[in-house]
Amino acid sequence: MTLTLYNTLTRKKAAFEPIDRKNVRMYVCGPTVYDFAHIGNARPVIVFDVLYRLLRHIYGENHVTYVRNITDVDDKINARALRDYPALPLNDAIARVTEKTANQFHADVKALGCLQPTHEPRATDNIQQMIDLIVQLLAKGNAYVAAGEVLFDTVSMPDYGQLSKRNLDEQQAGARVEVEAHKKNPGDFVLWKLSSAEEPGWPSPWGRGRPGWHIECSAMSARYLGNVFDIHGGGLDLIFPHHENEIAQSRCAHGTNVMANVWMHNGFLQVEGEKMSKSLGNFVTINELLETERFGGRKWPGEVLRLAMLMTHYRQPIDWTVRTLEGAEKVLNNWYRLLGETSSEAMKEEVEPSFWAQLSDDFNTPMAVTLLHSMANNAGGRVAAGVIDFAGGDPAKNRALLLGSARILGLLQQEPASWENAKKVQARVSEPLIADFIAARLAARRAKDFKESDRIRDELAKMGIALKDAKDPATGEIVTTWEVAR
Ligand code: AMP
Ligand code: ZN
Repeated sequence: MTLTLYNTLTRKKAAFEPIDRKNVRMYVCGPTVYDFAHIGNARPVIVFDVLYRLLRHIYGENHVTYVRNITDVDDKINARALRDYPALPLNDAIARVTEKTANQFHADVKALGCLQPTHEPRATDNIQQMIDLIVQLLAKGNAYVAAGEVLFDTVSMPDYGQLSKRNLDEQQAGARVEVEAHKKNPGDFVLWKLSSAEEPGWPSPWGRGRPGWHIECSAMSARYLGNVFDIHGGGLDLIFPHHENEIAQSRCAHGTNVMANVWMHNGFLQVEGEKMSKSLGNFVTINELLETERFGGRKWPGEVLRLAMLMTHYRQPIDWTVRTLEGAEKVLNNWYRLLGETSSEAMKEEVEPSFWAQLSDDFNTPMAVTLLHSMANNAGGRVAAGVIDFAGGDPAKNRALLLGSARILGLLQQEPASWENAKKVQARVSEPLIADFIAARLAARRAKDFKESDRIRDELAKMGIALKDAKDPATGEIVTTWEVAR
């Protein structure tokens, strides 16, 4: 099976060939920890988690190294620390902000069913590596010192702009970026800047200061993955300037032709056609979605968000609505119900070859999800028009295919019973109360008071509870069970 991936660097899809099959290496830019992550930020985390799972399946669990950094030095963090902890010394206040935010991020992405990356380096643990890189760039003539800053000299790199296909002349002519007096060229960017006595800083050959954002990722990726590695990922907005500048720094410092062979970028999660972002204020945090009732008047399971993301191809925009979540939840309800009909010990996991084929084609998760629908239909004994007949339509085999294939996407990781239980909690259902209703309804039926028994059924329906009657084959008695209907 060949994995093909779209590469932003070449603007083409091509067969993926790792540098070393025994150690496939991927770097994804992680969060700047100053505030809650929003569900747009969740998109790259989920997309690259699925890619990580896929690579582990193809090359073996111990043969993939996934690095996602934590940016814990940034002027936004300093501002937040001053605002939230004005009484503390700034360093302590910063530590509080970054710890709290990083912990929240970990809780969020765990609830979204994401695996931990192999390494999660923090920028502040890699300052020396950044300084070393800057020293090399200065020595090679790719950087200069001006007005208390060390800057990258974009003109010193003949093919600067390869990733974003921007050329420096255009930038200069358009004068979109106003030339700051100390910069040689408008596109030059900061590698190191001096800190005031109050600001966080580290000693360096250029004085006490702090790194620019781009140099962090160049230093951390080289430390954990080497000077050239396989895949570098992030959202579309990182192509320029962040990834362009990472490439410039890494290639010039290490003297290589590429930094990473494949550059992958996810599309935006949008609200009414606009990118979800902090600055536009049109955001919903992951935490709000999972733990509060501010979005659609209820809490949502992390797995619903995950499936909703994967129903769209990672390079396409997603327009975000409550309806998207409702649709994804219905699908999961159906899949868990099907799985619940088999004991978990008897449940095997298998993967359908055509499912692999879709995922291997630049990671076509929407088509992969369509195939899961067909497996579910087969598993439920429903082979209708448009439903692919897997394994001769054999229900048990299709349940195994559904489970095995969905788990590659990080879906259906729970026991069906715990999914059901979570729904009950979500619906705030009191089980003894429902048992009382059911008993009263049975009594009404025995007394042939069908008006009353229907009234009770309707009342439960209003609470979101659906009843199912079945005859116990042994006793002939009617047994009533219930589930949360959504
Ligand atoms: P930031 O905190 O803005 O650096 O974003 C962290 C990650 O989330 C980056 O990979 C961004 O590209 C990505 N990202 C931010 N906003 C969105 C969005 N609305 N949709 C998809 N990805 C996003
Ligand atoms: Zn980065």
